[in-house]
Amino acid sequence: MVAIKESTSHVELDSSLEEKDEAAALLEKARALLKRRLSFFVWQGFFEPLKALTFKDRALTLEAPTSFHRNWVCDHYMNELLSAVSESFGENTSVEILCSTDAQHLKLSPREKNKEKSKKPLKEKSPIEADLPELEHKGKAPVLPIFTAPPSSNDEGPRLSLSNLNAGYTFEAFVQGPSNQMAYAAAMSVADHPGRQFSPLFLFGGVGLGKTHLLHAIGLRAKERDPSLKVVLLSAEQWVNSYIQAIRERRFDSFRNRYRNSCDILLIDDIQFLAGKDASQDEFFHTFNSLHEAKKQIVVTSDKYPHEISGLEERLQTRLAWGLIADIRPPEIETRIAILQKKAEGLCLNFSDDIINFLAASVTTSVRELEGALVRLQACANFGNKEISLNQAKDMLAPMIKKKTVTVSPQKVCEVVASHYSLRASELSSKNRQRQVAFARQIAMNLCRSMLKMSLPEIGKAFGGRDHSTVFSSLRKIEEEKAKDISLQALIERLEQKIASLPA
Ligand code: ADP
Ligand code: MG
Repeated sequence: MVAIKESTSHVELDSSLEEKDEAAALLEKARALLKRRLSFFVWQGFFEPLKALTFKDRALTLEAPTSFHRNWVCDHYMNELLSAVSESFGENTSVEILCSTDAQHLKLSPREKNKEKSKKPLKEKSPIEADLPELEHKGKAPVLPIFTAPPSSNDEGPRLSLSNLNAGYTFEAFVQGPSNQMAYAAAMSVADHPGRQFSPLFLFGGVGLGKTHLLHAIGLRAKERDPSLKVVLLSAEQWVNSYIQAIRERRFDSFRNRYRNSCDILLIDDIQFLAGKDASQDEFFHTFNSLHEAKKQIVVTSDKYPHEISGLEERLQTRLAWGLIADIRPPEIETRIAILQKKAEGLCLNFSDDIINFLAASVTTSVRELEGALVRLQACANFGNKEISLNQAKDMLAPMIKKKTVTVSPQKVCEVVASHYSLRASELSSKNRQRQVAFARQIAMNLCRSMLKMSLPEIGKAFGGRDHSTVFSSLRKIEEEKAKDISLQALIERLEQKIASLPA
């Protein structure tokens, strides 16, 4: 089993150069994998600063620059780190993260040390305790990763017993909005009544939108309601690796038994990874059938709709679509604001509404990116030890906020905006100054500016030969309204998405 351990005390590491080199090489490999999988800013903010200390008896010891870094990695990126390390060195590797500031704490007076200690109630769990998720987690105290102990009756080696549930990924910590409501409700229903309705439940959506979070939430809630349930969570990648290992070690029967006979809820993350892996797919197909017949619950996540996963056999695609398919779309601006507020609150961060609104308006693609942005600001604020202003926040996030390059024409913009207000596109470039027409025109100008980067004279020309100063005041008016009115911001965003999604 792979385990991450946190430590609050710095130990003097008597490491040989060899151990250090090996540790550095292993960390480098894991880091390279993580770079491909995580948002650049999360990677840069949290994984780049990690240092390798030792690698001894299959235990990798790392050092994080601050406890904030260490806790964030343990709370939010445990699974990613675990699988990167296990892929680089095999599943029996454990990881310990120390932090350099803890080393400084040791230099404090005993009284101060106690004070520091009382702030951080971290304790390592025994494997049995570890089976119980920390459901009270409000995001304020660091969470220890959970390692589910293998079921006692299990006759297979510990390597096939990976079913870690991340205690931070609860339903309570998940912000609902129109973009994820159906997935949320289905996940909750499955956790409350496993195997009854919706089996399989197929959750699909883009990267960083909360699929893995919901998968863990199902496991945590189901176990909270009925601790005797056997919940197994693993990624399709881990499935493939375990399968290969079972074949190599001729432990095929125990592999089968583990998934077909000793599991009430099977949660498989990123099923698309099975594409092209015929033997693992075949095994999964039979496991699926046997669990389905036994009325057990199966939940899978994917970045694509079942029939869009090329390289997945049709019979498996069909079965995955048997139950309920729920998609998760990128969150709307209101949901993004609510997520940021919740995450900031959980981390005891105090950012002004201006900054939260700015972040929500600028980072639109995924919640992971949103978190990355928040974390980046927090890290910068932490190092500078001061509150940050909106302008500073803009500077810090400038590299992250990419300009959108969309190939659309001013005509498309006018058609979409006009149709939203039940007008004709030609009215937007006419002399008509009725309130509604003028407002729609201003919005269309704003979109031409933001999406097409048109100059003021170009916009003036496209809208019936208007003067650039008229264009300027129209743009300014919409910017001012947007800053005051979140619903206008949301509307403009929806229009933007609609325009961008139209065929060229
Ligand atoms: P996916 O599996 O879809 O790529 P994850 O489940 O790993 O995405 O989510 C990425 C990060 O975003 C996680 O830290 C998760 O907690 C957070 N997240 C995603 N959606 C939400 C949400 N609706 N509310 C709160 N946090 C969310
Ligand atoms: Mg995921």
